[in-house]
Amino acid sequence: MLHEIVARPSRRLRALHWCNRAVLVISTIFIGEWGLYGVFRCPFVVPFVSCQNCPVMACPGQLSRLFWGFWGVWLAVAIFFGRAFCGWLCPGALTNRVLALNPFKFGPNPVGVRNYRWAKYLMLAAALLAWFALGQPRVNVPLRVGEFWPSVWLTWEHAFPMWQLRFVLTVGILALGLGIVMCWCRFACPFGAALELVRRFTLFRFYKTSECNDCDKCRKVCLMRTRPDEENCTNCGDCVGSCPKDCIRFGLKPRGKE
Ligand code: SF4
Ligand code: SF4
Ligand code: SF4
Repeated sequence: MLHEIVARPSRRLRALHWCNRAVLVISTIFIGEWGLYGVFRCPFVVPFVSCQNCPVMACPGQLSRLFWGFWGVWLAVAIFFGRAFCGWLCPGALTNRVLALNPFKFGPNPVGVRNYRWAKYLMLAAALLAWFALGQPRVNVPLRVGEFWPSVWLTWEHAFPMWQLRFVLTVGILALGLGIVMCWCRFACPFGAALELVRRFTLFRFYKTSECNDCDKCRKVCLMRTRPDEENCTNCGDCVGSCPKDCIRFGLKPRGKE
């Protein structure tokens, strides 16, 4: 069914794209608030993975018990659908997409940024080190609760330098997305890096058939600035319909195909 949609660019294809945006928005409504608290107020060095142990009962992560197992589920799903969490569900993807609407953003590959794709693996290594080797320390004590923005301000005032460093890094790299599209997702997200490692072995994916002539038209429409089944592809489907050779497919990639 999906293969049929992909093979014949049409109104159904536009429906697929709108469906993608709608799912992203709905997902953001449900887990976006949790993401906001993780970035702006989570007391741990690595946010989003210690909700189970967190003493802040009022936090959405704690209320919905979104602890590290949540990430385990998505890593398992990645075996089947690669970085579909990035392409279809992550509030971070929607945030980055909104930032990419900036009409004054740079072109596809300013100052060779494509060469820095490895940076996200450094972020993943740092997160794993802090989580496992350093015991996931709390660097924001005492915890601040109450109204969101006043509590964020109090958090900043009373946090340890490591928390402030994390805050500046995260918000700074996100803000870079105004000029370098999807900057956080392409170069810095530790979970994106973990999903990327699994994506290489995924079963179902968008891929190019051997008809591909490397014209790169799909890369131009792709906000992740990649091509189907290449590094950072999130299985979002945006590029379908952009290929003059009609050689983008979805499904199990046949053996021996490029
Ligand atoms: S790279 Fe990270 S922030 Fe971006 S969509 Fe994937 S999980 Fe979300
Ligand atoms: S290559 Fe296509 S499917 Fe992959 S992320 Fe880019 S637009 Fe989405
Ligand atoms: S647009 Fe089609 S032919 Fe051109 S690089 Fe992409 S998949 Fe290959």
